[in-house]
Amino acid sequence: MSSPLSPGLYIVATPIGNLSDLSPRAAETLCNAALILAEDKRVSAKLLAHAGSKAPMQAYHDHSDEGLRDSVLARLGGEAVALISDAGTPLISDPGYKLVRAARAAGYAVHTVPGPCAAIAALTLAGLPTDRFLFAGFLPAKAKARADAIAELARIRASLVFYESGPRLAESLAALREGLGKRDGAVVREISKLHEETVIGTLAQLAERYADNPPRGEIVIVVGPPAQPEAPSDDALDFALREAMADQSVSRAAADVATRLGVPRKRAYARALELGDES
Ligand code: SAM
Repeated sequence: MSSPLSPGLYIVATPIGNLSDLSPRAAETLCNAALILAEDKRVSAKLLAHAGSKAPMQAYHDHSDEGLRDSVLARLGGEAVALISDAGTPLISDPGYKLVRAARAAGYAVHTVPGPCAAIAALTLAGLPTDRFLFAGFLPAKAKARADAIAELARIRASLVFYESGPRLAESLAALREGLGKRDGAVVREISKLHEETVIGTLAQLAERYADNPPRGEIVIVVGPPAQPEAPSDDALDFALREAMADQSVSRAAADVATRLGVPRKRAYARALELGDES
């Protein structure tokens, strides 16, 4: 089918629903690898049959014992070993990070065969800003830890992307509404499958819609960034600068106020200099 692969570790992305999304290069890599590391061999058997690969499989998780990792590393100098997960891109809320780190530390080649990833696919469907986003993986299951995690994300000026499951969706949406306030969001479900669905609304609308109605299937939640704060009036800026300059240098006061009020540093600094001259 193709030339043999050069030795090393191959991180191979696989479909998240529609088997036709397996790229020709991914199929070729799976056919030519000497060994395929998979999360769950039964899940991946179907994909390998679709790809026409007869390569042997070995179960691998990042918590697999060191002995297994060492035996995989020992093969990377002379053979091509592919890592796949049950679906999507390995290492993204899936195993592989420790193996890549160990392979790099030992000086072996690491290649990637990019492809489907639910987080990226959801961003393309949600209609929310994509210029800056933060992938936050799964929220913690326990209420306090979940609220703390959301509080940590609340100040970030970017869209947020979470992985979720049907049974936990309602709790997570309620916690997001509580912790993030009025923001737009999207619940993206079963991407690339028969029942693919994207529901958009404010977090409050989404929380209400799913409160007693847990959906089936695999889910990504996308939350839009916080609204830009309104630019402060000249009076408000002057007041904040005067207060800050009472016990800080002009430049520190300007930087502090610029961050707090969300105004450009240049504007805060120029005004701070004027106020300094006036006094
Ligand atoms: N590594 C995978 C990737 O690249 O997307 C993610 C693996 S993570 C263990 C599984 C989570 O991904 C699911 O709980 C769900 O949140 C999301 N996911 C995977 N496939 C999906 C799909 N077809 N539609 C929506 N979400 C999906």
